Amino acid sequence: MSKKFPYPCCRCGLCCFSETCPAGMEVYNIPKEYPCPGLDYNPETMTATCNLNVNHYVGVGEGCCMLARAIQDGVTYDFAALPPEKKRMVALHFWECKRTTSMAFH
Ligand code: SF4
Ligand code: SF4
Repeated sequence: MSKKFPYPCCRCGLCCFSETCPAGMEVYNIPKEYPCPGLDYNPETMTATCNLNVNHYVGVGEGCCMLARAIQDGVTYDFAALPPEKKRMVALHFWECKRTTSMAFH
């Protein structure tokens, strides 16, 4: 973790679901709106793995870089500061919604 990213990364995958990072865009030649081909997601363990480099897992060692707000019961939270289990639940929900949407349009 760093001063810039003070909260730990739990490999929930939400950052990669939200948009493909610059490295993924360059390597796979895709815009950030496209799903990253380098992302593996395990819904049972609710963890994400980046296959772009076998030694590089999503966010490991860097802290959570997700700049987003989460709103629950009218209260706004900094997503990066949420407990790991909450992050993973949000990411799983996001993944399920995206999967359902893409199945509906293909
Ligand atoms: S899976 Fe890897 S390459 Fe793809 S968006 Fe995430 S960090 Fe970037
Ligand atoms: S904890 Fe943050 S940096 Fe780590 S995978 Fe989830 S959103 Fe990305």
